[in-house]
Amino acid sequence: MRIDAISYGVHESPRTEPFVIASGATTSSTNVIVRAESGNLVGYGNACPNSVTKETRDTILAALGVLSKAVRGHEFEKNLEFADAMDGALAGNPAAKAGLDIAFHDLRAQELGMPLYRFLGGGFRARMPTDMTIGIMDAKATVSKARHWVAEGFRALKLKVGLEPAGDVRRLRSVREAVGPDVELRVDGNQGFSLQSALAFAKEIAPLDVVLLEQPLPAVDLNGMKILTENSRVPVMADEMVLSPQDAMRVRWGACARAVNLKLMKHGGLSRASEVNAVCESAALPAMVGCMGESVVSVAAGLHFALANRNVRWADLDSHFAIERDVAPRLRFEGGDLIASEAPGLGVRVDDGFFR
Ligand SMILES: [Mg+2]
Repeated sequence: MRIDAISYGVHESPRTEPFVIASGATTSSTNVIVRAESGNLVGYGNACPNSVTKETRDTILAALGVLSKAVRGHEFEKNLEFADAMDGALAGNPAAKAGLDIAFHDLRAQELGMPLYRFLGGGFRARMPTDMTIGIMDAKATVSKARHWVAEGFRALKLKVGLEPAGDVRRLRSVREAVGPDVELRVDGNQGFSLQSALAFAKEIAPLDVVLLEQPLPAVDLNGMKILTENSRVPVMADEMVLSPQDAMRVRWGACARAVNLKLMKHGGLSRASEVNAVCESAALPAMVGCMGESVVSVAAGLHFALANRNVRWADLDSHFAIERDVAPRLRFEGGDLIASEAPGLGVRVDDGFFR
């Protein structure tokens, strides 16, 4: 597979509504959409600026300039060769790398005429439930959002928490009462808790049948995460603390979590996400595939990745639902499940006009 040409452009869209989490608030979504050509094939990718990897629109554009130069005109026989070539050209910048890596995988799967999840080794499932995330808002608004999304078909909800633990418990209790026992509830603290408040919070939400307590403590607090993991009945999941395979090993050896949230933007694309997942799977840490404020392009890639890997037990692939004007149509969504395209590759096409 030779990469003949690469182009990219910034896409900005308002969010359908403001989104507040413990680490900040956003009202719009920015993505850098990547287009790569090989012969007469065209592949697409997406790099999403985010505070976890500390990449901005401008760092992504600068990184893509360097990375494009390093891979354009070269022949790559294996997926890992492509990821290694990018790492050899530039350290860090995982979201920028994910943009190119996704486009490369799209091209390779198209070349073999198979949907990306099959190219990645999957085939045992073609659809998966995703949760819908509800940002931090007052209890009444939270309940009305929860009812709305359940009516839309979602069978799992993820509540953002961590700004005010007492209020978080009340909101969770109201949501559980409103949606009944059959909707799965997950919570994400986005590093907003202290160890003491997280321990108390975990104890209070345990009777509410919450299935995951995601990254309540700062990413650097390995010891706190270990103590919380030992003492919380609600399984603790690591997110912001796992970017690389080495990070996953630290979580494993430190027993800092019981599950890990994988994101293509954090790890640098599909090849590196596979490496992180391999560590998780070997340590019996089941994974979720999550997303940043991503367009449908990389959400589709996340879905293919989730479908292809048995260790991925949960999907949190909802960001494209919140983008008012995306670059391509939404993924198929039925009965709470995202359904992968059976077209060769990623199954997402972005209008050529976007890149002019
Ligand atoms: Mg998270």
